[in-house]
Amino acid sequence: MFFMIGITQGKKDFEYDRLVICEHCGSYGRYQVFMTYMCLSLFFIPCFKWSRQYYVKTTCCDTVYALDPEVGKRIARGEDAEILPRNLTQVRAGYKSRIKRCEHCGFETREDFEFCPRCGKRFFT
Ligand SMILES: [Zn+2]
Ligand SMILES: [Zn+2]
Repeated sequence: MFFMIGITQGKKDFEYDRLVICEHCGSYGRYQVFMTYMCLSLFFIPCFKWSRQYYVKTTCCDTVYALDPEVGKRIARGEDAEILPRNLTQVRAGYKSRIKRCEHCGFETREDFEFCPRCGKRFFT
């Protein structure tokens, strides 16, 4: 017998549509909830997943938190679980600079440009 066995690391995103005030940068943002896991595949069919870890990334400043797995599992099941600050452990601090968005062409940047690098119009800050 010949088995095709592969081990890969996977990532899965979940829906979490709540506006939150970021503890890190103080602006409004959203939590992007995702899970990483190791996956064993047999004949390219994923059949076993383990070491699931849940994370949250803020859309405002890209700060990454480890999420309490109990809350993560509830969100993964589609339940209306609320993420509280005590469920989060910061693993990576994000950038404090806000995203600048050009009102003319929609170009987004975190760099401190005064003029839009795409269309040349001045940014409103
Ligand atoms: Zn933030
Ligand atoms: Zn522009």
